[in-house]
Amino acid sequence: MNWRLSELDRITLISNSDAHSPARMGREANVLDIEPSFYELKDALKQKDSKRLLATIEFFPQEGKYHYDGHRNCNVRFSPKESIAQKNICPVCGRPLTLGVLHRIEKLADRPEGYHPDNAIPYYSIVPLAELIGEAKGMGRDTMGVSRVYESLCNSLGGEFNVLLWAEIGEIAGLAGREIADGIARMRKGQVTVDEGYDGVFGTVSVFSKDAQAEKKNEDDKDHEQLSLF
Ligand SMILES: [Zn+2]
Repeated sequence: MNWRLSELDRITLISNSDAHSPARMGREANVLDIEPSFYELKDALKQKDSKRLLATIEFFPQEGKYHYDGHRNCNVRFSPKESIAQKNICPVCGRPLTLGVLHRIEKLADRPEGYHPDNAIPYYSIVPLAELIGEAKGMGRDTMGVSRVYESLCNSLGGEFNVLLWAEIGEIAGLAGREIADGIARMRKGQVTVDEGYDGVFGTVSVFSKDAQAEKKNEDDKDHEQLSLF
């Protein structure tokens, strides 16, 4: 989104989580290859040096509570283009829509969607591992079942970022099962299903497509039917 504003080209964009509880800290990050010193850090950022600042790691912006436009009470969620077509007026209540971040980008941008500046530092988009495990297992992210798998993966493979971004998919499957491994593989390829946040409602990013979820539910239902025969 930032890459669409040419005036930001001279800025080094970094990514830091603003989460407020210990378990959610450090979930967005900057990948650096430097001597661990303040001078090196300062210089790498100042020079916007892609040999030293290798990448940033971040959540999908669509999860934000004000990404798209809309009215939560009217159940109206619009992309900026849809809002503009409606003159930014809610078709349900007739009042002005709450405009989101993407709308602001659309207003300020001097480049088309998807533009990639030459000197841009790449980024990884991630989904929190506990949420991904919870989705795969059909459990809440703060449950014991999820935290057991989470701890086992992170302890064996060297931390959440390693699990999400770099560990062998086969190794993840061996520790946590094929479903979670497939979810991580899909996330790495950006194969996610997104429901954008709007007007104070959090967006959701799912690594399991709606089709895959329906298929899984059918299989689960079949398993239940089979069990109930005995
Ligand atoms: Zn409305």
